[in-house]
Amino acid sequence: MPAARTIAAPADRPGTRQKKPVMLVLLPCGPVEREDVDFLMGALSARGMKVVIAVERKVPTATFNVARRQYRADVFLNMAQNEPGDQVLAVTNYDLYSGGLNFVFGLAESPGKSAVISLFRLRRGANEETFRCRAVKEAVHELGHTWGLSHCQNPRCVMHFSNSLEDTDRKEMDWCERCDRKL
Ligand SMILES: [Zn+2]
Ligand SMILES: [Zn+2]
Repeated sequence: MPAARTIAAPADRPGTRQKKPVMLVLLPCGPVEREDVDFLMGALSARGMKVVIAVERKVPTATFNVARRQYRADVFLNMAQNEPGDQVLAVTNYDLYSGGLNFVFGLAESPGKSAVISLFRLRRGANEETFRCRAVKEAVHELGHTWGLSHCQNPRCVMHFSNSLEDTDRKEMDWCERCDRKL
């Protein structure tokens, strides 16, 4: 008889220690390349989330701000809110704004169920790998907000506020130790 063993702890790395497994729905809003959504699914699954991809939703054209050529980000939060799932991350190629900001890479309820990321600006000056790194960082950032994390002053932490793509590129893909402890 083999001796009793202690059960191995799950992979102990930042972002894998949420209290319960999260069922995350990725919700494409407007046309989004399937391979981009698939890539996000893979990257977020690797962080310990159960991820499913919902059917693409049309964004109501009446919510387009013609003067700004942008959508208000909270329109997408409302769409995500109405979707079944513990957490819903809307993914869109449309450019978003919110409040007094010229644009946002994403927005989330904090804490809450719904979040959105826009891929629109993430392709600027980026090869495929950089683009995908940016998308994962923005997704993890917004999901961090849904779990109650606020912005972090550590510029390497994924919860650091991105005012520009340079900020996003400087960040790591995970939370710093301080943010990780708060989860
Ligand atoms: Zn943020
Ligand atoms: Zn942090």
